[in-house]
Amino acid sequence: MVQPEEPEFQQAYNELLSTLKESTLFAKHPEYEKVIPVVSIPERIIQFRVTWEDDSGAMQVNRGYRVQFNSALGPYKGGLRLHPSVNLSILKFLGYEQIFKNALTGLPMGGGKGGSDFNPKGKSDNEIRRFCVAFMRQLARYIGQFTDVPAGDIGTGGREIGFMFGAYKQMQNQWEGVLTGKGLSWGGSLIRPEATGYGLVYYVEKMIEKATNGKETFAGKRVAISGSGNVAQYAALKAIELGSTVVSLSDSTGTIINQKGISPEQIYAIQAAKLQFKSLKEIIATDKSFTTQSTKCEYLPGERPWVHVGAVDVALPSATQNEVSGEEAKALVAAGCKFIAEGSNMGSTQEAIDVFEAERKSASALGASIWYAPGKAANCGGVAVSGLEMAQNSQRESWTAEEVDQKLKDIMVNCFENCYETSVAYSAETNKGSLPSLVMGANVAGFIKVADA
Ligand code: GLU
Repeated sequence: MVQPEEPEFQQAYNELLSTLKESTLFAKHPEYEKVIPVVSIPERIIQFRVTWEDDSGAMQVNRGYRVQFNSALGPYKGGLRLHPSVNLSILKFLGYEQIFKNALTGLPMGGGKGGSDFNPKGKSDNEIRRFCVAFMRQLARYIGQFTDVPAGDIGTGGREIGFMFGAYKQMQNQWEGVLTGKGLSWGGSLIRPEATGYGLVYYVEKMIEKATNGKETFAGKRVAISGSGNVAQYAALKAIELGSTVVSLSDSTGTIINQKGISPEQIYAIQAAKLQFKSLKEIIATDKSFTTQSTKCEYLPGERPWVHVGAVDVALPSATQNEVSGEEAKALVAAGCKFIAEGSNMGSTQEAIDVFEAERKSASALGASIWYAPGKAANCGGVAVSGLEMAQNSQRESWTAEEVDQKLKDIMVNCFENCYETSVAYSAETNKGSLPSLVMGANVAGFIKVADA
């Protein structure tokens, strides 16, 4: 199943398998165990060369990939990551997670992932366009609205989807909903840009409600967030809207912290600057609203937020994989953090998950528990609204923002309840004082759906 040199895929595979084995699933239904090797080998992997011309007229070459992991539930569905770290191990782990995540949305979508080691940072608009067109020239023959529907991920936003969609449409001479995350005026869905971050907060809202017997909400909570891209921005805006204080954001250059709360205006400024690939370091250096006394943010170069944020109630890792170490997880627990939910895919290392799960298991009362939700459940709102975009395209309709937002909320609530109830049904744990494991619940619920199909 796992090839040598695939540490990220190995990690995702081990994480799924260990929780399935800890549950009572295979004892109750031994036939499910036979599905593991079937679901753990991609149905198809496409690798290709992408050649494109830079602004000086020189030829550049990158590797392109699409992992068509599993189509039991519907067309392959998942984003395209453009980042220099991209390799087959990372795309296999992301594609694998995507299978079960998409199953948890309840929508008919299989799982896939793709991308390239192309680095968009520092490239001109024209270079990005030429790369995207060249990438699609290779990918187009393998995708289609009923076959495989890619979308955005790290490095691929509305602009890149636009370049790729235009290239596909010209080549195939037909308009079809072959990509999601499109612009509003050409087939995109309202709330798609917000969906992953909003959905993450809707999921955590249910966690808070359940763990406190409906006594607490986001109001008054202190929230640490990592990342400052699409997911982090909208998670922060929604958390603020619901009355909480967002104390941190970060990027690969460092972390900003404001114990009084990062403001929506500062988040909009980051949003605009990130489109130009500006780092937090550059933003802090040039935008006075980050340094004036009343709204001052502390900047910690090269640091991640977790050991620096102090007392927080909620942590939302929303940058990239393995962004919370075991030590950082311990620091969050020591700082009183009660809810950890991933906006990123596999945001926590296995060591960090072990810390969160050990704390949860040992709790003697609901309120004393730490509760951790994995990305495949907590961040499924993004791909869920992608599924809603596909439905709108097929019906030749555009739904209102309120309609899409309500559907997103319903999907996140159903996803939470499915994880919770599945965990209760398949738990082998004996401590009745603690909350059920959402990692196990998510993995078992997603797996059963795909295995049945
Ligand atoms: N890249 C996002 C994810 O990790 C969205 C995928 C999609 O919309 O297809 O789920």
